[in-house]
Amino acid sequence: MALDLVRDVGDRIDDSPLAIRGLTVSYGEKPAVFSVDASFRAGQMTAIIGPNGAGKSTLLKAALGILRPLSGRVTAFGRPLDEMRARIAYVPQRASVDWEFPARVIDVVMMGLYRDLGLLGRVRPRHRARAMESLERVGMEGFATRQIGQLSGGQQQRVFLARALAQEADLYLLDEPFAGVDAATERAIVGVLKGLKAEGKTVVAVHHDLTTAPGYFDRVLLLNTSVIAEGPVAEAMTEANLRAAYGGRLGPASAAAAG
Ligand code: ADP
Ligand code: MG
Repeated sequence: MALDLVRDVGDRIDDSPLAIRGLTVSYGEKPAVFSVDASFRAGQMTAIIGPNGAGKSTLLKAALGILRPLSGRVTAFGRPLDEMRARIAYVPQRASVDWEFPARVIDVVMMGLYRDLGLLGRVRPRHRARAMESLERVGMEGFATRQIGQLSGGQQQRVFLARALAQEADLYLLDEPFAGVDAATERAIVGVLKGLKAEGKTVVAVHHDLTTAPGYFDRVLLLNTSVIAEGPVAEAMTEANLRAAYGGRLGPASAAAAG
């Protein structure tokens, strides 16, 4: 196991955008995430890859403080998570969102600004302009006044990415941003994420497609409840590591593609 994790020995502070130490999360008796150590590097795009039920979404939610872990510690930019929330944007798994909620596209994107606005803040023209700019970046500026529930899956995913962009965060956590979207949306999202990286931002995305991972990401964290491997894509996505992560569920096609 070629683990390339920052080993946080002694008192050394890991000031990477997201550092996870000894994280264990359980919904019942069996942990969904067990003893995970991971550091996500600044200015890099990292994929979290693993089979269904591997704990990928759970890891992201615990890293964000949405779920309370049994044990472990998460820091962001070397500080406690709570102090750094404004710098972290999250795009949840699309299937986990209630799309029947009545809201216009522009209002969903404005939610990315609530830390700036405050709960009772007045929406100013510059806020609306920032939301519109974010919609433009994902090619959805023509849909601002549409109801979010009336959009296609790919369009909804773009709007949620726009909400994250409006936040102007430094770390972006996305849960399966390409699941159930059309090819054009996938290209658009990859373009936006690479643009964020070019600006020096850090991107961490749960990803389910082994064949596209090398083209999209710099690094990969292979997860199956525990960390199987972590490192540059070519080094971590070996057939042996993929077998260890996926077991019998790894088809020969994906193994060859990941070669
Ligand atoms: P992944 O995102 O890798 O598919 P998840 O993090 O969603 O995996 O789930 C990891 C494990 O935890 C699975 O066995 C799943 O059934 C279980 N699980 C996820 N969410 C819940 C929940 N809210 N209550 C109980 N069990 C859950
Ligand atoms: Mg998931």
